Amino acid sequence: MATMMAARLHAYGQPMTLDRIEVPEPRPTDVLVEVKACGVVPNLARVVSNFFGTLTPDNKMMPPLPAIFGLDPAGVVAKVGSQVFGVRPGERVYVNPARACGSCRMCRSGQPYDCPNWTLQGYFGRSQEIMHAYPYGGLAQFITAPATALVKLPDNLSFEAAARFGYLGTAYAALKKIGVGPGQALLINGISGQLGLNAAQIALAMGSTKILGTGRNQALLDRVKKLSPQRIDVFSVPNAPPGPSDPLVSWAKKATDEHGVDGMIDCLPPGAPASAMMRALFCLRRGGRAVNVGAVMETLPLNAFWMMTNRIGLQGSVWFTTGEGEDMASMAGVGTLDLSILEHRVSPLSKVNEVLAGMDDRNGGFTNFVIDPARLR
Ligand SMILES: [Zn+2]
Repeated sequence: MATMMAARLHAYGQPMTLDRIEVPEPRPTDVLVEVKACGVVPNLARVVSNFFGTLTPDNKMMPPLPAIFGLDPAGVVAKVGSQVFGVRPGERVYVNPARACGSCRMCRSGQPYDCPNWTLQGYFGRSQEIMHAYPYGGLAQFITAPATALVKLPDNLSFEAAARFGYLGTAYAALKKIGVGPGQALLINGISGQLGLNAAQIALAMGSTKILGTGRNQALLDRVKKLSPQRIDVFSVPNAPPGPSDPLVSWAKKATDEHGVDGMIDCLPPGAPASAMMRALFCLRRGGRAVNVGAVMETLPLNAFWMMTNRIGLQGSVWFTTGEGEDMASMAGVGTLDLSILEHRVSPLSKVNEVLAGMDDRNGGFTNFVIDPARLR
């Protein structure tokens, strides 16, 4: 039996250990992928400390232990199951970790993202059964996944850049929901973070002609503006209460002929106050639409009467479909999605605990944390 190395978590709050385990056999509709790069998100440090497990009373959101985490794996197909016809060994792929049960009413209606058992392989989710069926996250040398989860990568897209697809796709799926495109002014709340920077890159690729971005760190904001000085404007937000006299609202109105922005995507990090999201919502024009992919956990002081009279839309969005992943791969392939500004910080599998402990040391969203499972030291 062939074996491989995997970083496994044996107890929440403890470091992962490098364990030698069996290489899994793909089931008939699955593939085996040799992982070449796995993205590591700053939030993983919170996940392995069981922060999210404690949010549900029965603690059923987390994978059974020992667990292999790793949300954003990219690599090469090593083996395909007997019922897989459209994928061949040797193909370069990103593995979309989104799993659904496949047989509930929503899955059978073609809406697997509304499946009550929706789960992220290698992270956490709503189904212990699915986490048991797909226990291999990208912090292992090989993983199994359904063939339907594969995004084929163009030759000019590196595994390291593809390992950023989680953030990119989250932004892409969200921006599609609010109709970003030419002639539209978009506000990205938190533009210099991991998610916000990728939202800016995707919005540029989608043809958005005016992109406004908020942040705190002026040096990082200046770097974001350099992506497209003609189309991007940035604002280091001073403290102020939400409302019509907010300097943020004045700035957004001035940039849009006093209309306000057409769309807003909230990309604020964990710990941001609800007021920071409200201030961005007040930048919307009448009829504007907002989508939340950020991590504000405080309850919003939303005025339903204001929303109604101003025809404001607000919705949540989570992750992205494999088809949306294919869109991103196509955009990267022809260069309309430019990922060259990402600074890949590649570490061996043995350094995963150090990587998780050191993620606060980064150049905002520009730093791309990647583990190469083939490297053990
Ligand atoms: Zn389902």
